[in-house]
Amino acid sequence: MSNSGKLIVVSGPSGSGKTSLVEAVLMEVSNLKFSVSHTTRKPRLGEINGKDYFFINEAKFKKMVREDCFLEHAQVYGHYYGTTKEFIVSELASGHNVILDIDVQGAAQVSSCKLDSLFVFVVPPSLRELRSRLEKRGLDDDSVICERLSIAHEEIQCYKHYHCVIINNKIKESLNELKSIIMTGCYRVKRRNKQVEQIIENFKEKFLNDY
Ligand code: 5GP
Repeated sequence: MSNSGKLIVVSGPSGSGKTSLVEAVLMEVSNLKFSVSHTTRKPRLGEINGKDYFFINEAKFKKMVREDCFLEHAQVYGHYYGTTKEFIVSELASGHNVILDIDVQGAAQVSSCKLDSLFVFVVPPSLRELRSRLEKRGLDDDSVICERLSIAHEEIQCYKHYHCVIINNKIKESLNELKSIIMTGCYRVKRRNKQVEQIIENFKEKFLNDY
């Protein structure tokens, strides 16, 4: 694939605030396009087909997989999600940067594509904060929240495979950080290992105490 723009791949656990961060950065950084994924999950209230996702059924998704339409695809929380090649290839060729909000499995597939990519991982400041954000969203019942917290604990371990980690405590500061990462094309490794390991440790303790 020939290209001149760059892919910005953003991952992080559900409730880390990555989607809000991506939405905010799209408003503030020019020459940046959002890759709208295809998914088999049902639209949530307020979500728009073609803007948030392309909502398709499983048969269509599987057909697209067979036809090799996806740059990456994965099953997340029991639904299929995928990034189409066509959009990415044409936007990169036009010199645009493209931002992807995808899970860790998808990011691993993108990393093997040899495209000019920058990988950013968003973590919540603590388990307590993550749980409170998931509760406030009001999308999931208690058992689903517990499952998401457990998956979050697994996902956070993947931070080591990303170029940069943003600890999303205050959205404004995180936004400025993401903007500067994109605008400088920062490849300087900024993984904040010590802080993230502390967050993971805190997760472990809380899980043993609370669940
Ligand atoms: P949600 O259903 O809450 O919007 O997203 C669930 C998870 O799927 C999030 O972690 C999100 O980043 C991820 N996701 C969204 N689109 C894609 C995609 O195209 N590919 C992959 N691998 N993950 C995706």
